[in-house]
Amino acid sequence: MKKVVVIGSGPGGSSSAALLASRGYDVTLLEQNKFIGGKCSSYEENGFKIDTGIHMFARGPSGPHGIVAKELGVDQPWLIRDPSETMWMNKNGFWYLHQKLASPGAIKDMAVATITRRQTINVLNTLRRSLKSFGLMGLAKELDGLRRMNPGIIQKYDDMTVRDFLLQFTDDDRVLAAMNCLAMLLLVVPYEQASAGEFMDSFIGIFTCGTLGVPRGGAIGIPRSFLRAFTRDGGKLVLGVAAKKILSKDGRVTGVLGSDDVEYPADVVISNAGLKQTVKMAGPKNLPSEYVEYVDGLKLSYSWMASKLFLAKRVVDLKAPSFFPIPEVDPDSIFKYCDVPDGLPKDPFLFGPMPTEWDDTLAPPNHQLIMVGVPTSCEVDQEERSQKMLDIAERKFFSFFPEVEKNLIAKSRITNKDTNRITRKGTGECIGLAQCVGQVGSNKPSPKMPLEGLWAVGCDAGARGVGTEQGTASGMLVASLVS
Ligand SMILES: Cc1cc2nc3c(=O)[nH]c(=O)nc-3n(C[C@H](O)[C@H](O)[C@H](O)COP(=O)(O)OP(=O)(O)OC[C@H]3O[C@@H](n4cnc5c(N)ncnc54)[C@H](O)[C@@H]3O)c2cc1C
Repeated sequence: MKKVVVIGSGPGGSSSAALLASRGYDVTLLEQNKFIGGKCSSYEENGFKIDTGIHMFARGPSGPHGIVAKELGVDQPWLIRDPSETMWMNKNGFWYLHQKLASPGAIKDMAVATITRRQTINVLNTLRRSLKSFGLMGLAKELDGLRRMNPGIIQKYDDMTVRDFLLQFTDDDRVLAAMNCLAMLLLVVPYEQASAGEFMDSFIGIFTCGTLGVPRGGAIGIPRSFLRAFTRDGGKLVLGVAAKKILSKDGRVTGVLGSDDVEYPADVVISNAGLKQTVKMAGPKNLPSEYVEYVDGLKLSYSWMASKLFLAKRVVDLKAPSFFPIPEVDPDSIFKYCDVPDGLPKDPFLFGPMPTEWDDTLAPPNHQLIMVGVPTSCEVDQEERSQKMLDIAERKFFSFFPEVEKNLIAKSRITNKDTNRITRKGTGECIGLAQCVGQVGSNKPSPKMPLEGLWAVGCDAGARGVGTEQGTASGMLVASLVS
């Protein structure tokens, strides 16, 4: 039987390990932390169960997490709310995102917003611009292709930025600002860098499935359910042991040297540590120099940091369980502060999911848990700046909901430093490689690395999608390629 060593228990590592164990492989999983899940994890504080990240899961049970859980035969309950998002659109007030864009509730909310806020002129302008770009038949074909998620159309847009894609249809600042924010939310890359193909795949995928949600009990439920199946099927889970070195001989892997100085023999090594770290562990000399150079040049995603606010009682009651205020800033400038040394946002875009609005078991009875996230670059050496950004983010959130500040029992913050404490990569990116033009679709790094028996899994390799779903989709792909 082939021996497999998987390095890392993020969504990519835990799904590939569990699928291979269920298919009869002899699998050992080494995880450097004493806990599972990587960036898709949760912890407990003050009686609250909190995600280390600020998680929402784009396609919930219909996406890769649900598909893997089904194949493994493990139960993972999901919680779904409709509408799922409350967006604050400044002069245009609240907008609600429904699970299905064309559901009766979504159409009613859109009609009310359009009529009461006199959006007709912009609709006409958008139509005029779209017709100029495509012509009548071309526009109908384009919209139909996008609606059907036609792979040809998605691929066509892989090498165009989200910004350029949108400008074919509209120059309405409110639409551009909202879409720049959504690109930062879904792909964690600003819209002038993010790939339109990748964005459309993620964005349309959400509304096609209509099951955006959270796993009951927090994000850790996803890797935990995979690893339940893994140990059930004979997989060996080793916590607190880092892979120090990927061993190879005559151009093929032979095993992994752990931080416990034990050699774990393997015919196949699957690394969830990220491409850059995996090259280091395998030894750049054991890989073609042009490949090492290529990996070195790959760009990482931006990041999110968050304040987790523990409240004495439930004080925010919105129609949808998360709150996104779109900044009142020129659309192209929203995230410029991220790349400026010491840059701080004047009016930040916030990601404000309220986990207890889905799952009241995450807090003591009648308490509320709120997360306030703000995007940033992926550097880890800017802690003072990070804390200032979170101060600004909290102030903005409190300006909408003053009762939150008054009922705050405690708070805990996650910055890039904490994300790096989990991954130990020396960087704090949220996703892995940036889903930007040149790094997605046919240009996405292959999971097969140029050393026989070595595979990369997770957000750096082979798949598309939003955050954790990309990791698990990569796990499915690698498990099928290996087996
Ligand atoms: C603040 C924040 C908010 C986020 N919000 C969302 C969201 O709303 N929705 C969403 O879908 N995604 C979100 N994400 C992104 C999501 O968490 C990641 O995309 C996903 O976890 C990446 O999965 P992965 O399989 O690539 O690996 P990771 O989760 O990065 O896991 C890698 C694992 O490998 C282990 N490892 C690394 N090196 C070694 C080694 N040498 N030896 C042993 N083990 C090793 C690490 O300890 C870790 O457990 C968020 C992330 C952050 C940080």
